Amino acid sequence: IQWEKQVRNSAQIHRSGGMSVLVTGAAGFVGTHVSLALKKRGDGVVGLDNFNNYYDPSLKRARKSLLNSNGVLVVEGDLNDAKLLAKLFDVVAFTHVMHLAAQAGVRYAMENPNSYVHSNIAGLVTLLEVCKSANPQPSIVWASSSSVYGLNDKVPFSEADRTDRPASLYAATKKAGEEITHTYNHIYGLSITGLRFFTVYGPWGRPDMAYFSFTRNILQGKPITIYRGKNRADLARDFTYIDDIVKGCLGSLDTSGKSTGSGGKKKGNAPFRIFNLGNTSPVKVPELVNILERHLKVKAKRNIVDMPGNGDVPFTHANISYAQRAFGYKPTTDLQTGLKKFVRWYLSYYGYNNRKGLQ
Ligand code: NAD
Repeated sequence: IQWEKQVRNSAQIHRSGGMSVLVTGAAGFVGTHVSLALKKRGDGVVGLDNFNNYYDPSLKRARKSLLNSNGVLVVEGDLNDAKLLAKLFDVVAFTHVMHLAAQAGVRYAMENPNSYVHSNIAGLVTLLEVCKSANPQPSIVWASSSSVYGLNDKVPFSEADRTDRPASLYAATKKAGEEITHTYNHIYGLSITGLRFFTVYGPWGRPDMAYFSFTRNILQGKPITIYRGKNRADLARDFTYIDDIVKGCLGSLDTSGKSTGSGGKKKGNAPFRIFNLGNTSPVKVPELVNILERHLKVKAKRNIVDMPGNGDVPFTHANISYAQRAFGYKPTTDLQTGLKKFVRWYLSYYGYNNRKGLQ
């Protein structure tokens, strides 16, 4: 009873026309920011996360505390726990699901391939099964990835471009997710929006990502490994600042439309959409390092090696005109500015602020 009350409180809507959103992966990087933004504008939010140890779980716990102090409950549980999901839908008639829980990272797939199948395929299907049977059925917005473009060499990447050459198991599970969600849209009338995020960075970010681990190593005086591609070409990424991604998530939730089925039966045509959410200005990885050095006021020890062929792609670059047309998506933070905010957060979070020589 106490638990149900907490869930209901967290799902309470505080604006007219607001939504109640189940955010999966809420203790993750993007999930934390999206949950806070929804709560701030008066929507009801309930989080779900399994707090796995793919990276430092204490960072996830710290994000959870931040969410709790802003009135967002994060229920601890796994996507594959159908009973728990059904219980949540019994307590709250969620209008929307923001599905961000996943096994992320391309390289870890070499070590633990099954974790990708567990979260990104089995977990996704479990969630869709519960959504399909919920009454009313929620609209679903979920995180796919720019990695579905794989070894595509036509840039910038547009949504209709080929996605049949994934370079990692991670990419393959995201591509599978796009096919699986399409099936649920088609058969059961679930409203589905897939978002192909392009290398998201910012405060409370993911320690496994390059900008984060570079920062850590630079500050600790350790070398950083920079990959280069064929013919010694620098890798480049369309780094996208978290606040821009959050705006894209909220914009797509707001325009996601209604599911048209109920109790597993389809009635009409529910929308199925896929959007790129990127920054449209790729930056080469060595330039990322230059910017970090300037912000940290410390020189990096560069160790430049050939890309080992473990899942990385040479470059990414988003065409964002579809999201721009659909909900006015327009990224506004350049890498220089966004990394400054990240570094400020990093220094404060890890207690560097009192050290001499660092701002
Ligand atoms: P993240 O790892 O910080 O967040 C994912 C969260 O999901 C984690 O807190 C994890 O504990 C949770 N989780 C994983 N499997 C779960 C399961 N089976 N049940 C319940 N919870 C589970 O990653 P992020 O960077 O915030 O990414 C959010 C989403 O965006 C993911 O789907 C990711 O694949 C996608 N994405 C991220 C980026 C990026 O650059 N950050 C780029 C493209 C796509």
